[in-house]
Amino acid sequence: MYRFSRAIYRELVEDIIDGSSPGTSGVSNRESVLRACEATVERLGQDRYSFARPARKLILDIRPYFPLAAQVRMRRVVEHYIASADEFLTAQFSTGFDLAGDPLACRALTRRSVPCQRPPLAHNGYCPSHQHLADEVEQLVESRAA
Ligand SMILES: [Zn+2]
Repeated sequence: MYRFSRAIYRELVEDIIDGSSPGTSGVSNRESVLRACEATVERLGQDRYSFARPARKLILDIRPYFPLAAQVRMRRVVEHYIASADEFLTAQFSTGFDLAGDPLACRALTRRSVPCQRPPLAHNGYCPSHQHLADEVEQLVESRAA
């Protein structure tokens, strides 16, 4: 996954404001941006389905480190590479295995409160019998966003 955070960082590094920012104990702005990019793709890889708007989160995290004139481009770069990372994950998950090579299982619990063992669908991580849960989550996320 880190190739995506590195790609974002490489595209943006020239635009990052020099120096460091208050409250970061001297960590350079470049380092702060790189860390934020890495944290985002790492979380996306581990927790894709409950990470609702990764690009938006990363844009908000790194916005203070860019001059106003560079922010439109920064947003485009982040959105582009986070979308690529997400496509990559969807393709990976449709093989039935996670990034570590472990088999994926449905995210739901059964009526007996044990994890469902059925193979999930790649786009939402629930097996065919638990698709109704995915719909409920989506509705909740959408109602929060509205
Ligand atoms: Zn299931």
